[in-house]
Amino acid sequence: MMKTPTCANCQKQWSWKMTWKKTFTFKKAIPCPFCGEKQYITKNARQKLCLLPVIFPLINVPFLSFGVDNIYLGMMYVVCILGLAIGMPYFYELSNENEPLW
Ligand SMILES: [Zn+2]
Repeated sequence: MMKTPTCANCQKQWSWKMTWKKTFTFKKAIPCPFCGEKQYITKNARQKLCLLPVIFPLINVPFLSFGVDNIYLGMMYVVCILGLAIGMPYFYELSNENEPLW
């Protein structure tokens, strides 16, 4: 079962909506809505998020090999983008410290 992230400081679970909104602020430190402590996305979670766009070219493969119309391919992309947007908060993991990416 996928879970929304929990604060590394107070262990309270962040709601999907709140995490989703914070995702698009692109700030390094996200203050926890419960305890106010600054939270950072873990290195592990950031690496996973970086890999997500790799999925897109892979969607093309079955469609191109079966000669499906571009319109269906376009629809698949829309569905995948929506799926990613909905799934984003589930990829987040929080840490009290800002880890270097690599
Ligand atoms: Zn907290």
